[in-house]
Amino acid sequence: MKEEQQPDGQEQALVEAVARFAIGQLAPHAAAWDESETFPLPQLRQAGALGLCGLFVSEDHGGLGIGRSLGVRLFEALAEGCTSFAAFLSIHNMATAMVARFGGAVVRQQHLPELTSGAKLASYCLTEPEAGSDAAALRTCAARRDDGYVLDGAKAFISGAGDTQWLVVMARTAPVGSKGISAFLVPADHPGVSYGRRERKLGWRSQATRMVLFQEVFVPEDHRLGAEGQGFAMALQALDGGRLNIAACSVGTARAALREAISYVKTRRQFGQSISQFQAVQFRLADMATELHAARALLDQAARHYDAGHRATRAFCAMAKRFCTDVAFAVADGALELHGGYGVLGDYPAERHLRDLRLHRLLEGTNDIMRLITARQLLDDHDMEGLL
Ligand SMILES: Cc1cc2nc3c(=O)[nH]c(=O)nc-3n(C[C@H](O)[C@H](O)[C@H](O)COP(=O)(O)OP(=O)(O)OC[C@H]3O[C@@H](n4cnc5c(N)ncnc54)[C@H](O)[C@@H]3O)c2cc1C
Repeated sequence: MKEEQQPDGQEQALVEAVARFAIGQLAPHAAAWDESETFPLPQLRQAGALGLCGLFVSEDHGGLGIGRSLGVRLFEALAEGCTSFAAFLSIHNMATAMVARFGGAVVRQQHLPELTSGAKLASYCLTEPEAGSDAAALRTCAARRDDGYVLDGAKAFISGAGDTQWLVVMARTAPVGSKGISAFLVPADHPGVSYGRRERKLGWRSQATRMVLFQEVFVPEDHRLGAEGQGFAMALQALDGGRLNIAACSVGTARAALREAISYVKTRRQFGQSISQFQAVQFRLADMATELHAARALLDQAARHYDAGHRATRAFCAMAKRFCTDVAFAVADGALELHGGYGVLGDYPAERHLRDLRLHRLLEGTNDIMRLITARQLLDDHDMEGLL
């Protein structure tokens, strides 16, 4: 396990390259993508060329093979350019890492290179209309047929759906329980796969969110990921990493919001002076920076625990996701406040940051579900110490 907080020289060079990409190629367009609901495909391809579509896939499978401690730095940097872009990339990486880790040799050989290069993109399909927080209650069924499975059911809230080429789908291979769930890699345009309308939503507006419907969709056996019945455990494991990424996207977005607020208060004048001269404004900025650093420290710790295989990793990821997303939202709200009425206008990024960050407190498990995961660990007599 790496104990040091700072990345080494090579890692630092990667963080700087990604920061340059985010500021040069994402930030100038983020507002327009949000406004016009444009999926930034050319920039996703560029991200692929930088290695950002296969972050957690080993190098021999065409990925960068990095750990989460570096991963959170990269997602922070990306989100400073465009939150919605960074968050989609997180989901693509989550699905791609599942293919790399649990896919059979044929699937890995045939499909991983396209996923890690960003030539093809993937969605992660767990949530259903009747199975959100209680994801293990999912009902999409994968019925056994001689040479494979037939999928029937519906997934809700699927990020990127309609724009991605592959779907990682959790479906039921046994009638009840979390151990009756398996995972499958399904081509997004396979016969029997169809899509709901693009949801109109508060934030992440550059990426589509749609329902995905499966009607007698045949999936060959070699497209099952991992063993039958392991799908739910694999999906939760992927979410541990996803939650770190979402926490990092939150910290990065909040940092951008804080920077913009600092620059604004220095130029805005009221009562004959710069508003940065008012102590109330200074104290607000000081609290925002302090809380953001505390959130980042917890995020770093959770990422280090993930990389080290700590036994309470799931709870640490949940704590980091809960805390970072709440703090980031509060920072973005403070940043908007410091813009006065101008904060709610589309001319400034403050309101977009707030809209994007509101989503982070809900998705990949709501923050109350993060509390539930943390409390479960605390109340477990055998494992409480893992968290204290
Ligand atoms: C923009 C967006 C993108 C998303 N992308 C994806 C995606 O790509 N793939 C995917 O699979 N899913 C995705 N999701 C789904 C997301 O993970 C779920 O929305 C989330 O897990 C909550 O489920 P739900 O919406 O059904 O809410 P519900 O589960 O209905 O929760 C409603 C409320 O009840 C509370 N609640 C529920 N159970 C408990 C409990 N036991 N204790 C206390 N409170 C509880 C919740 O905290 C919440 O406040 C996305 C969601 C959004 C909004």
